[in-house]
Amino acid sequence: MKPVSIGIDLGTSGLKALALTPEGHAVAEAGAAYPLLTPRPGWTEQNPADWLEAARKALAELTGKLEAGGYTPVALGLSGQMHGGVFLDGGGEVVRPAPLWNDQRTAEACAELEAAVPRAELIRRTGNPAVTGFQLPKLLWLRRAEPGAFARTRRVLLPKDYLGFALTGRAATEPSDASGTGALDLARQDWDAELLAALGLDVGLFPTVIPSHGVVGGLKAEWARATGLPEGLPVVAGAGDNAGAAIGLGLSSARPGVGSVSLGTSGVIFLPLEHPTPDPHGRVHLFCHADGGYHLLGVTLAAAGSLQWYRDRLAPGVPFDALMQEAAAVPPGSEGLLFLPYLAGERSPHLDPDLRGAWLGLSLAHARGHLTRALLEGVAFSLRDVLEVMKPLAAADRLLAIGGGARSELWLSVLAAVLEAPLARTPVEEGPARGAALLGLVGAGVYGSVGEMLEATAPASDPLPGHPEPAYAAAYERFKAGFRAVAGVARAGSIADS
Ligand code: ADP
Repeated sequence: MKPVSIGIDLGTSGLKALALTPEGHAVAEAGAAYPLLTPRPGWTEQNPADWLEAARKALAELTGKLEAGGYTPVALGLSGQMHGGVFLDGGGEVVRPAPLWNDQRTAEACAELEAAVPRAELIRRTGNPAVTGFQLPKLLWLRRAEPGAFARTRRVLLPKDYLGFALTGRAATEPSDASGTGALDLARQDWDAELLAALGLDVGLFPTVIPSHGVVGGLKAEWARATGLPEGLPVVAGAGDNAGAAIGLGLSSARPGVGSVSLGTSGVIFLPLEHPTPDPHGRVHLFCHADGGYHLLGVTLAAAGSLQWYRDRLAPGVPFDALMQEAAAVPPGSEGLLFLPYLAGERSPHLDPDLRGAWLGLSLAHARGHLTRALLEGVAFSLRDVLEVMKPLAAADRLLAIGGGARSELWLSVLAAVLEAPLARTPVEEGPARGAALLGLVGAGVYGSVGEMLEATAPASDPLPGHPEPAYAAAYERFKAGFRAVAGVARAGSIADS
């Protein structure tokens, strides 16, 4: 028998299923897409039934591939988009479509939350202030906006935990995703009943918290029939997408100092921590990791997304590599040109959805290469802003660089010099599904602990040469001054309002 563990990533645009050997090698994958609903401006929802249908399709396809290869599934681990709210009635039926992580309807609910529990207290207990996308404000919104639906609600689940409930009949969650609801007592890694009572909410609405490698239950017969997987297959709680991806990269809270920086559509810095130490101002997130520890998370909303926008709108058809070559010919600091990457507002550290972007300091001497280089540098500076907030809280001795932008040598060298932190590259690209499958291996008993599994499966990484670049120190100071100067002017105006 050749054992494999299946990991699921329930993403925003689709679901991916991946099978890994006990050594962490991917042997098969399958996926299925589903729609994103935007019933009103700022609202994002999905039908949980669509997730189940995608899971059925992807798992059936994956099982076919595994049978052909002679592999036997020993566990199924869950991962996916965080923060969403799946509201269930007493019979386990979905009460209304699920608002997602990027839904913006909860501004009033966040104010209600911080009126009931002071912001500093909220940060101290749960690691974060009231954040629009989190699950807890969604529940307060439901109570106010749709009292009938709220009255029928007996349970609220996170997206991947709803899938676990459907697969096994048992409702459970685990700390990494649960800490993204805004209702988890971080120190105890369990629901904050006192906080919930202050809001008039019953802690019984929330599912049991088990460890990330804990078994939720066995696969139900109907799912075994629909997918070809064995009945009773252990379904393992898994992790929220950020913690899942970090597990896949081998990032452990027992080895603080080794984190990751992602140049994806958004830019993300992930730093593992042994103890829960929040930023007192809530400028970066603090969540539970999936290995019993904690992690900081900072997000720059438009990282490689800025480059994608720039290429599509201002240099259509030009390959990224060609743009990078032009930018490489421009000296560090882009001869005085600065780019503020706030095309979609900003999360960390400014927490301001109305900020907008800018190029500052344009002159007749500047050409396209300057615009591109300034953009790469501006994204790096905004990640530096995030790292500056994190540095007093967590060590950052080595950062694994991932995401589409990490394909560019130039961008990586700019990032290493601007962050003044050693970067390393890793070949692993499977993301959260990989982490979910690895946690599945622990749940199935292939490894004795998450720590042992991480030791055995952490991917190799190549250190990248870091070249200190004095020009960036001055340019970063100008970036901060530029931000202060234009932040009040470059705000959402007619475009955002239209
Ligand atoms: P997502 O976060 O949506 O999964 P990816 O991690 O796949 O995104 O990154 C995609 C982005 O990577 C593109 O929008 C583009 O900005 C950037 N990218 C892709 N190829 C290159 C390249 N060769 N050089 C620099 N940037 C690149």
